[in-house]
Amino acid sequence: MPAVTPGLVCAHHHLYSALARGMPAPPRTPTDFAEILELVWWRLDSALDLEMIRWSAMLGALEALESGTTAIVDHHESPNAIEGSLDAIATACAEVGIRVVPAYGVTDRHGHDAARRGLAENERFIRAGGRGLVGIHASFTCTDETLREAAELAADLGVGVHVHVCEGTIDADAPRRLAGLSRDDWLLAHCVNLPTDHPLRGTILHNPLSNLNNAVGYANPARFANPVALGTDGIGGNVLESFRLAYAMERSVDVTCGPDTAWAWLERGWEVVPEAREDEVTWSYDPMDPWHVAFTPGIRPLRVTVGGQTVLEDGKPTRVDAAEIRAKAREQAVRLHARL
Ligand SMILES: [Zn+2]
Repeated sequence: MPAVTPGLVCAHHHLYSALARGMPAPPRTPTDFAEILELVWWRLDSALDLEMIRWSAMLGALEALESGTTAIVDHHESPNAIEGSLDAIATACAEVGIRVVPAYGVTDRHGHDAARRGLAENERFIRAGGRGLVGIHASFTCTDETLREAAELAADLGVGVHVHVCEGTIDADAPRRLAGLSRDDWLLAHCVNLPTDHPLRGTILHNPLSNLNNAVGYANPARFANPVALGTDGIGGNVLESFRLAYAMERSVDVTCGPDTAWAWLERGWEVVPEAREDEVTWSYDPMDPWHVAFTPGIRPLRVTVGGQTVLEDGKPTRVDAAEIRAKAREQAVRLHARL
């Protein structure tokens, strides 16, 4: 009798980064987190158009489904294709058959007018009935005015804010800048350099693989009073992999800990996107409990239903052609890489 769980939730993703694989090397090798942003991600996001956004979201959604993830909380930026970007992401995920809660990450890096257009994209998408959040890139790239406008818009729309917090030392001022604005429905991604005693409200989103890859340090999320959920920060949609690494990293600083804490972070995703509890994943492995999953690589979903509809059967998506998505995404990646 195979194990069945609700659909998993990836609480911090960047679907736009699915086409980054194989991109040309940056003009010089980044030496810290700030340079990784400047030389890799901010060049990539500026080159995106709506067709690239669509196919990167299709590929990211497909990979999430193939990992048993039925809900993605996405944080998006495409400064030269802002209007309609959240619809492109939502449409792609709906075609694959999974849930997405997107947000456009506003920033003043491209001037206040571009920040306004980012806010307007969040507002337009949500007022039209979209299931979204208001996004902020990070406080260190925003003016106080933009931070306040984003917080007010979210409160007005009755949704939370999805923001990067203290991912690197460059954002050390975030607790002071966001104190008084944050609420319990905010999602605070990374929090690596966030002091244990801090004033921010909201759920902390832990992205262990991305933090290692950016050499920003260990967030040690067990130290926070805030709830914690797991994300990938754009490195695929496999939340079981995030759980396994979150456990191993916690263990690296506390050899007495078990996998229960990291498992509770995985389960916390169902507070962030409660609809995913209606979804069912039948796994290739039994039992799906913390000690087994922590030491069992390669667990795959055999069957997935989302809202009662079968979207994966015998390990294959039922609504889309996986090979066609990969081929189209490759074409768009070639276009994107040529622009870089
Ligand atoms: Zn992120």
